[in-house]
Amino acid sequence: MSVPLVILAAVFGASTAAFLPRVAHRLAVPFGDPARSACALCGRSFATGPGGWVRVGASCSGFPAYGLTVLVGASVSVLLAVTLGPSPQLPVHLLAVVPGLLLALIDLRCLRLPDPLVAGLGVTALPLALLRPDRLVPALLAGLVVFAAYLMIALLPGGGLGLGDVKLAAVLATILGFAGWPAVVTGLVVPHLINGPIALALLLRGRGRPLPFGPALLAGALIAVTTA
Ligand SMILES: [Zn+2]
Repeated sequence: MSVPLVILAAVFGASTAAFLPRVAHRLAVPFGDPARSACALCGRSFATGPGGWVRVGASCSGFPAYGLTVLVGASVSVLLAVTLGPSPQLPVHLLAVVPGLLLALIDLRCLRLPDPLVAGLGVTALPLALLRPDRLVPALLAGLVVFAAYLMIALLPGGGLGLGDVKLAAVLATILGFAGWPAVVTGLVVPHLINGPIALALLLRGRGRPLPFGPALLAGALIAVTTA
């Protein structure tokens, strides 16, 4: 384990995560709505232009878990640095943490996974095709199989999956396909092990409600990448 590498990863993870709460706050809107022009918590208007998006710090004094967001960004990046080491895959996966964390924040707030962010996550993984051209066909196949399987579940009545979940699962399966089939399987199984008990606990306490699946999918992919 290289200590400077781990420190660098922690600084990268924490400093990029610090910018995400404001962006998530503005993008966490119902489907079809434009990004928020004013804070949903205190009603204060955001600045127009880039200044309204770029802000380090809690977006609003009412923003929950700002410190936790930074801590998760740093921890996930450190975990990747420790497990992947100084490999060419490390910067690719570190970069993917940024759209991944943003998607998790938005899904937790409004049960949505905006297409442009899911596509952005896919774009950050494009260098994997250059690093492992031998894995390109299996990776695309993994994405296709997972897309078809999750689409079927989403179309079942009471399937509990949204189309955003289907697209995110397919993108993540493609990324994991570059690490091998065991990683794809881990990435498929772990999200259900995370959300299943939570859904059951809520149901038993009479508080059954739709759960965001995106954070579980992303956590599953992280575990798959770091244990592959
Ligand atoms: Zn506010």
